[in-house]
Amino acid sequence: MQAICSYCELDMGEREPFDDPRLTHGMCQECFDAFDDQWSGEQLGEYLDRFEAPVVAVNADGRVIAINHAMGSLADVAPRAAVGLRGGEFLECVNARLPEGCGQTVHCSACTIREALAHTIDTGKPVERRPAVLTRQAGPVEMLISTTRQGEYVQLVIEELEG
Ligand SMILES: [Zn+2]
Repeated sequence: MQAICSYCELDMGEREPFDDPRLTHGMCQECFDAFDDQWSGEQLGEYLDRFEAPVVAVNADGRVIAINHAMGSLADVAPRAAVGLRGGEFLECVNARLPEGCGQTVHCSACTIREALAHTIDTGKPVERRPAVLTRQAGPVEMLISTTRQGEYVQLVIEELEG
């Protein structure tokens, strides 16, 4: 796979599996440092670890500030590796791997997660346990999502439903 920086689009080289031509996203060191300084993601991650449910903090641009360990297990990603990515990138939504990118494809206007985050950022009002479907490479994942605004960011809680 071809790894590119989610923020500045720097080519970060090939990643395993090498025979898979799709894109994967990360943050280059420079963007990671700048983003992490701005949002104090490390302290926020420690705070989020108090929650048992998978929680991710997302800023108004739809980028991950921090995730807790439960969310890391759900998405199969190290918590610090998710920092700075768009929601669909770290959750491995298939649409985030299209050339247009997370939030920009023709499928994204129907995305319940994106809509809930935007609603809560814009209005300050929470969304409670709304059914959503995330399409991953292995197939659709059904979940309930809840969003609450905390100052300049939104906390998104995911409850994965048994298939
Ligand atoms: Zn970068």
